[in-house]
Amino acid sequence: MNANRLNRRQLLGAASAGSLAALAPSVMTSGATPGTGAGKLAILGGAPIRTKPFPGWPIWDKEHDEPPVVSVLRSGVWSRAGVVAEFEKKYAEMMGARRCLATTHGTTALLTALNVLGVGIGDEVLVGPYTFIASIDVIFLTGALPIMVDTDPETFQVNPDRMEAKISEHTKAILPVHILGLPANMDKINAIAEKHNLLVLEDACQAWLAEWRGKKCGTLGDLGCFSFQNSKHLTCGEGGAVVGNDDGLMDRCHSYHNFGRPYGQTMLTLSGYATLGTKCRMTEFQAAILLAQMTRLEEQTRRRGENADYLTSRLKEIPGILPARLYDGATRAAYHLYPFRYRQEQFGGVRRDKFMAALRAEGIPCSSGYGPINRDPFFEHTLRSNNFRRAYSKARLDRCRQENHCPDNDQLCREAVWLSQNLLLGTRQDMDDIADAIEKIYENRAALV
Ligand SMILES: *Cc1c(COP(=O)(O)O)cnc(C)c1O
Repeated sequence: MNANRLNRRQLLGAASAGSLAALAPSVMTSGATPGTGAGKLAILGGAPIRTKPFPGWPIWDKEHDEPPVVSVLRSGVWSRAGVVAEFEKKYAEMMGARRCLATTHGTTALLTALNVLGVGIGDEVLVGPYTFIASIDVIFLTGALPIMVDTDPETFQVNPDRMEAKISEHTKAILPVHILGLPANMDKINAIAEKHNLLVLEDACQAWLAEWRGKKCGTLGDLGCFSFQNSKHLTCGEGGAVVGNDDGLMDRCHSYHNFGRPYGQTMLTLSGYATLGTKCRMTEFQAAILLAQMTRLEEQTRRRGENADYLTSRLKEIPGILPARLYDGATRAAYHLYPFRYRQEQFGGVRRDKFMAALRAEGIPCSSGYGPINRDPFFEHTLRSNNFRRAYSKARLDRCRQENHCPDNDQLCREAVWLSQNLLLGTRQDMDDIADAIEKIYENRAALV
């Protein structure tokens, strides 16, 4: 809903920019070649490639999805109980994992997992900067220091070849993120972890059903975490999960997310808290919605994958458009976003912002994606906080600062363009519209400078 509103606003913005540009001395159209991309650019007053909206998100089915939610409401049992347990069982099955623990958010899933893995004050955790802020926040929130590993711009994933150089005697864990729903290089990451005796916590918060060599992302490390926030492929508004194969770890995750009550202990017992814990239990409503949403996930993932592959086959033919490469071991990608790099030199110097405005004007919503969050003020703010200054020597904090330079990531953040997952739920014709719009901009690039 929000995304659609935003897109409409962006379209309006682009349209008014277009009408202003149309008043400027005209240099376009003369050079346009016949074919799909021919014609005056919409941002310069021409007809857009499409005006039809793309599929919205989230999707629900009244007949199928509403009764289970109403049934929870009428039961009066709204807090964690049988429906959550049923979701956990089905989600674990779908993931090919022994266990699943449902939580309130992907963020609390990550926090639970890090705490149970014993990550805390004094530790360093290796993580890439090309991610959603939560992946970094959770490391700081345990009291550990995130050590940044630069991004592989071709794949948009953390660069495993930069990882070993970042290891110190304090390194405790690696937190690989399968960002954009594309698998990180788990062969190399797991090999490094094994060699240096490090824990691996996968942030699979964008990677439901993505696979590495036939195994689901989120089941390749010690623990894996998922998000079910509103924009995610499997959603109940807010929600999360930890998955794992180790009963001991999963028992402790359960305990941690329930005030430290020992796993299996009834909620009516008001003593016997075994460990420090917090509370991030999923409600029955969330689980009922997730169970309904889950019935469509496989089919939607298949469709996104097919559309993404087709889109890649067309976009890679356009000079200056570089779709993300998948690693050889990536047997399935979830495409939470469809990313490509935009090279302005090959578009006659047209800046990315202008390219995106032109693309939106053609009826294709898009965004520039993540900025370099490792350079955001929160990072230094945290290192200067009382907690961190009490916990670490100046030398330790300085090392964290010094390692926080990721030039490849900075470059990627300047070049990236994202299409959101709901666009990939459309038809093949929708994909052709996207590719035609980009071709049209390429062919008319001289008019945009
Ligand atoms: C969404 C997301 C999270 C956090 O999940 P929430 O459910 O929003 O708390 C963490 N990491 C990544 C990569 C995400 O995309």
